Amino acid sequence: MATRTVLVTGGARGIGKGMAKSFLETGHRVMIADLPAGGDWRYPLGSDTEMTSTVDELSSIGEVRCTPVDVTDAASCEQAVQSTVDAFGGVDVLLNNAGVIDSGPIEEFGEAQWDGIFAVNVKGVFLMTRAAVASLRASDDAAIVNTASIAGKRGSARLAAYCGSKWAVIGITQSFAQELAPEGIRVNALCPGMVGTAMWHDHLMADQGDPAFQKRTSDIMPLGRPQTVEDMGQAAVYLASARNVTGIALNVAGGYEMH
Ligand code: NAD
Repeated sequence: MATRTVLVTGGARGIGKGMAKSFLETGHRVMIADLPAGGDWRYPLGSDTEMTSTVDELSSIGEVRCTPVDVTDAASCEQAVQSTVDAFGGVDVLLNNAGVIDSGPIEEFGEAQWDGIFAVNVKGVFLMTRAAVASLRASDDAAIVNTASIAGKRGSARLAAYCGSKWAVIGITQSFAQELAPEGIRVNALCPGMVGTAMWHDHLMADQGDPAFQKRTSDIMPLGRPQTVEDMGQAAVYLASARNVTGIALNVAGGYEMH
């Protein structure tokens, strides 16, 4: 198989970084795209510094570069795709992975929080895909993997905005899969379970520490452990490579969600 170019949003850290590593290990070129300056959110988001140190860390594995992007901004998405085309000649695999979370009771949940989650998690998937689709069409082995969540398959108290956004990602995935199938572009969603990233450690279980996270996941996961960024990277490589798989939403969730 020819070397493919992968563009991963939210790739500076967490699950996106794990995906970047797995794609590099399987012979792909990777462009990491993330916010340049920390973002304006309830907890710190990625940054230039984090992107640069991730590129430094992964560059011994393969060809990896980074570019700034704000997935809520159409012009920024187009610029990130153009930077990838300029650097590597095209885009074969788009990983729409950037995401944010917030939680709280209905009456205390602000409109800005609601709109912020939908701007990144839902509109961001559309804007990045729209920006990249011409490049994907030019590839003879193109795929899109959208990071949804098990929160896109079951609701949770205090998480209506996040769960709603991830259900939307699965619906968008199925729609894009239908639309792009005649051109051979596969579109799938990945549904992580519980991965110990900033979402947990800086927000959902902030200040509770890793032992508390490990205990919570081992208590509720049938397989008795949290999932890892490596698990997500391997699954994303599979979804981007499986020639006859499109429109699915694959749980990588230790048995916590089974449909
Ligand atoms: P994370 O906070 O470590 O990573 C999210 C990344 O997205 C950050 O680098 C952040 O800078 C980036 N990002 C946020 N807003 C952006 C924007 N406007 N433009 C560009 N980049 C932006 O968290 P993570 O857990 O690695 O999350 C990655 C994806 O996995 C998200 O879509 C998240 O919803 C999903 N997910 C995570 C879990 C989990 O347990 N951690 C479970 C299910 C789904």
